[in-house]
Amino acid sequence: MKRALILNAISSQIGGVLIRGERGTAKSTAARALAALLPEIEVVADCPFNCDPSGLDTLCDNCRDRLARGEKLPIARRRIRFVDLPVSATEDRVVGTLDIERAIQKGERHFEPGVLAAANRGLLYVDEVNLLDDHVVDLLLDSAAMGVNVVEREGISFSHPARFILVGTMNPEEGDLRPQLLDRFALCVDMHGLTDPRQRVAIVERRMAYEQDPEGFYQEWLPREQQLSREIAEARARLPRVTYTQRDLFTIAQLTTSFKVDGHRADIVILKTARAHAAWAGRLAITEQDILLAAELTLPHRLKRQPFEEAVMDVEQLEEQLHKARAEAPQEVILRAGDQVESGTKKALSR
Ligand SMILES: [Zn+2]
Repeated sequence: MKRALILNAISSQIGGVLIRGERGTAKSTAARALAALLPEIEVVADCPFNCDPSGLDTLCDNCRDRLARGEKLPIARRRIRFVDLPVSATEDRVVGTLDIERAIQKGERHFEPGVLAAANRGLLYVDEVNLLDDHVVDLLLDSAAMGVNVVEREGISFSHPARFILVGTMNPEEGDLRPQLLDRFALCVDMHGLTDPRQRVAIVERRMAYEQDPEGFYQEWLPREQQLSREIAEARARLPRVTYTQRDLFTIAQLTTSFKVDGHRADIVILKTARAHAAWAGRLAITEQDILLAAELTLPHRLKRQPFEEAVMDVEQLEEQLHKARAEAPQEVILRAGDQVESGTKKALSR
């Protein structure tokens, strides 16, 4: 779970994670903790959509209008937002609403921002995503994929950026997600309570230490948190330079074929996740290990279920298939990010 969350923090292109598991396994604690680790961002200070002042092509319609009028956009630095979506959320609450009466009476376009506005460039947490209205889940996943929210009513439209890290949780005992929706969560992890008594004791001890002295607990763990936060920022900066070869692509393709995965989403997600993992590990090219760890997070919810059988991801089987795929993949190496590779590698070596 921690790995899946951190990789999404390194690469916002991955497309979110679904955490499946029983209650009381710190799913929401982990997601909240991640938001606190992410670097601060620059925003248009008074924009409800947290527009990026340096991303002129992703501005909301309001900021765009202000620039067109010659206004200067005020800039502020802010921690990224953690937005919690309630299970009872309706479509209007999620996407926001256009005030049609005001448009007709005063000729003004007025948009009431929804959850997607608050979540832009932040982390959107959806607890019990399987209990949410299917239509609302569809909207969330659409927005997560497109990075923009467009609301149209009676010929009037408003659009704003809506890019966020989507973290959903569910307890499978309370009902499943439709396979179409499952497949659109990039990564998936299955959580279980720990069975080792020593680890269970450690959890109780930490929890008690926190309750007795929250401030002292925070101070004790702060250096570790800051270290992790720095490592995420470094990996983010390294990510654009991480390369892959055609052989890696064949390995991924043979792997997904051997697991009879539907469609092509899994291949793309494995590649993006493997690159994020390489960046996290301080490397500038992906390795077999990156592909293996990425596949472990990408395949669990995409395996076809046999009747009367649980679809379980078997790590040994995965490793075996990966070695087979690697052996069968063509040997020639075609580098992607071309000339940047060498200088990047040199820089890494000279550090
Ligand atoms: Zn804006």
